[in-house]
Order: sequence, then C-alpha cells, then structure tokens
Amino acid sequence: MSEVKQIDVLIAGQGAAAFAAGLYSSRYQVETLIAGEQFGGETAIGGMIENYPGQPDIDGFDLMMKFKEQVDKLETPTENSNVTAVEKNGDVYRATLENGTQVDAISIILAVGRERRKLLLPNEEEWSGNGVSYCSTCDAPLYRNKKAAAVVGGGNAAVEGAVLLAKYAETVYLIYRRDKLTRPEPILLKVLSQTENVKVLYSTEVVELLGSDDAGLTGIRINQPWEGQNELTLDGLFVEAGADPRLDIPNQLGLEINPDTGEVHVDKALKTSVQGIYAAGDLTDGTELKQTITAAAQGAIAALSAYQHVLEVKSGWQEAETSTPAGVSGD
Ligand SMILES: Cc1cc2nc3c(=O)[nH]c(=O)nc-3n(C[C@H](O)[C@H](O)[C@H](O)COP(=O)(O)OP(=O)(O)OC[C@H]3O[C@@H](n4cnc5c(N)ncnc54)[C@H](O)[C@@H]3O)c2cc1C
Repeated sequence: MSEVKQIDVLIAGQGAAAFAAGLYSSRYQVETLIAGEQFGGETAIGGMIENYPGQPDIDGFDLMMKFKEQVDKLETPTENSNVTAVEKNGDVYRATLENGTQVDAISIILAVGRERRKLLLPNEEEWSGNGVSYCSTCDAPLYRNKKAAAVVGGGNAAVEGAVLLAKYAETVYLIYRRDKLTRPEPILLKVLSQTENVKVLYSTEVVELLGSDDAGLTGIRINQPWEGQNELTLDGLFVEAGADPRLDIPNQLGLEINPDTGEVHVDKALKTSVQGIYAAGDLTDGTELKQTITAAAQGAIAALSAYQHVLEVKSGWQEAETSTPAGVSGD
C-alpha cells in the first residue's frame, strides 16, 4: 500500500474558494495540498466576468488561471483528483482521493461548490456561455439592448433573474412548468407584476434548444398544453432551476446542514459543526450572494481558521511530548 502523505491543510476543490484558501494557507507557511479534478470550478466555465473588482471584462478561465498562478508561485502542490472519502483518524482526518492517494490532514477546507440543475437537453452543455447561462446575476448585463431572453424556473432566483434581465433586454419570458408561481417571496412577485416587459409563460416546458455550434443558442422550442409546440427566438436562455450543494463529503463527516437551504452550515469564521473541518464558497450558507468574489473571500477566511486549528493541534502534540517523563516512550 502506498505511503500516506502527512500534511497540515487539505483543500478540496479547484475553484475560487479553493485557490484563495490555498494562497492564504501557503502564506501561513503550513503544508497545504489542493485536490480537485476540474480546474477553475464554475468561474472557469461561466464565460466573461464583469464584476470581479480590479479585473474588468476578464474571461472566467483566465481569471482562474491568475488565481492558480499566484498559488503556484508559492509552490503549493495540486492533485488533479477529487476527494472521495474523509474519515477521522485520531487528531487528523484521513482523506482518500480518486487516484488512490491518501492524505492525513490536520484541517480540511471543503470548497467543492454546487451542482447546477440542468434542463438535460441536447446542446445545453455545448452552448453554455454561448447563449445558455445558469447565473442571471452574473450574465444579465451581457443582454443590454438585446431583443429577447428567457429565464426557466419558478423560485426566487428565477423571478429575480427575470426582473434583473428586464432592465437590459427588450422582452423577457419567464418560463415555468406549473400553472402558478407559489415559491417566490411575495415582494418579488409584486415587483414581477410591475415589470411590464416580463411575460410569464405558465405550464410551459422547454423541449428543444435551437441554434448552431457557431452561433450558439438562437431560440427554443416550447410546449404548452393549449397551444402545442411553438418556437421563441431568443438571444439568451437562463436556466435558474436551482443548484444542489455537493454534500457527499459533508454527509460522510456528519456536518450540520442548513435545513432551509441544504447548504453546509458555517459560522463567520467558516467553521462547520465538526472541529477541524471548514467550508467555503457556494457550498455554504455563509452568504446568499454566490459569486467568485464571495467564494474567494470565504476561502481566505477559512484558511485563517484552518491555520489556527493546525497551530492548536500541533501545540497540543508538543505539550504531550514535553510532558512525557524521560525514558518513557511516547509511542
Ligand atoms: C454560468 C455562470 C456564470 C457565472 N458568472 C459569474 C460572474 O460573472 N461573476 C461572479 O462573480 N460569479 C459568477 N458565477 C458564480 C461563480 O462562478 C461561483 O459563485 C463560484 O465559482 C463559486 O466558487 P466555489 O469555489 O465555491 O465553487 P466552484 O467554482 O463550483 O468550484 C468547486 C470546485 O470543486 C470541485 N469539486 C467537486 N467535487 C469535488 C470533490 N469531491 N473533491 C474535490 N473537488 C471537488 C469542482 O470540480 C470545482 O473545481 C457564475 C456561475 C455560473 C454557473
């Protein structure tokens, strides 16, 4: 069996929260490892980023390359492999990566993000960032002066997205598969009803994405019980059907989950309910604003907490060593 690596801080993820945590952790001079299969997380696949301070109009992939370069300068090792299991092993946590590597870490920062719910239609993935988006807060301004865009979903995010998009695009369709919006907050429904250029299409399903690999999405085919199938010409389609925090590892560790949001519950120091385990970014209930800047900020804060835990555990080990009477083995 291969050797188990002994480190101070393991960071699960390769997105904004993970790289920011890696940067801060390495600068605290503790032995750090970043592990995750997919480079850059959602930021890297989200297209243009217009709201990251200091980096106007930067492609998300390039922004994440800058994050990584800064971490690489500190020679922080990265394993391109997901963390598949974590269990308590004395004072440390033993993590197993998909590639078989085993790591004992004093602190773990979970920055594994969320899984966006998709429509699961052909071309959806290929045209993501080219007419198909999963984040209206991020991409709505790209639709300034465009003729038409649509939002699919029936929760707060969908209504907020449609109202925001209506400030930019001439016409916005809010497409919902049920016959009534019951989930959004009443205040949002009031704003929606006052936004004249949003047309709500109830009992409507998107059945096909129209377009080409060159042009990206140019429209959709919808199905309505009373009208049958129709085409809508669109400049953009926003899928706001929710996102599920990745809870495999949090559940293995028995972390407290926020019952309202399904996210890992953290305090303001990004501590979870289990000592030595921290969480940062979109995975957590730390903030409602799920953005690259908030994920990065949380990563930095989590790194400080993880570092403090490492110091505490190590000073405990030192104390135990010095209090062991001479001639008595500590093994
Ligand atoms: C289409 C789109 C456009 C966006 N545009 C913007 C924008 O313009 N501005 C903005 O500020 N925000 C934008 N966002 C939101 C922003 O991308 C997220 O808020 C941000 O990426 C969250 O960072 P994170 O590190 O928490 O999670 P993520 O970026 O999701 O990273 C999670 C990482 O964890 C990895 N991972 C998953 N499972 C494991 C595992 N078991 N072990 C190890 N690693 C694992 C993933 O592969 C990934 O690398 C956009 C999002 C989308 C979807």
